[in-house]
Amino acid sequence: MLTIALSKGRILEQTLPLLEKAGLVVSAEELKSRKLILDTNLEDVKVIIIRASDVPVFVQHGAADIGIAGKDVLLEHGANGLFELLDLGIAKCRLMVAAEPSQDLNQSTLKIATKYVNSTKQYFQAKGQQVEVIKLYGAMELAPIVGLAHCIVDLVDTGNTLKANGLIPLDHIQDISSRLVVNSASFNTKHTEIKDWLTRIEANL
Ligand code: AMP
Repeated sequence: MLTIALSKGRILEQTLPLLEKAGLVVSAEELKSRKLILDTNLEDVKVIIIRASDVPVFVQHGAADIGIAGKDVLLEHGANGLFELLDLGIAKCRLMVAAEPSQDLNQSTLKIATKYVNSTKQYFQAKGQQVEVIKLYGAMELAPIVGLAHCIVDLVDTGNTLKANGLIPLDHIQDISSRLVVNSASFNTKHTEIKDWLTRIEANL
């Protein structure tokens, strides 16, 4: 039995066609059901669809053998106990610093609102900039507007969300795309099965 953890939302829309091409199909009926463990066209493969940030947690603890998650989420998690084996090249975007154009970023302590606390701290520590990181779970763009932070660190794709909120992209921290990760113990115990899926997915990228 192989369990694959998929990230809900934007990544899922691009992951399902990729898995289908590799021979793994989750029916529309299964996707519409309220079940948390979904059957696939293959009896020995199950799929769970969970919050993106939970994917590395499930894989780390072996609750899923394989996971598909954004590099943003993997960097934040630290990726202990899992191997990142494939860059799927989907859900591409950039992790960026953004602020209002008039904002003075020369602060003795720069206040930054973000969901990406670890990546943000690492980035500014490397630059030698002292920061206060304010953890938010969404609507980061609001923080500079209401004076909660001097700037934000968030994912940027088209840049439309920043623009709509009067923010401009500044520093580029990291290119992001979805990655396939594997539980390190499963990679040993289910090596042939996992390798076979890796080959099939890679062939269809
Ligand atoms: P955009 O307006 O196209 O720049 O998209 C920015 C918004 O979409 C932000 O709220 C991001 O957090 C979110 N976003 C953009 N790309 C991704 C992605 N690949 N995965 C998850 N969220 C994303």
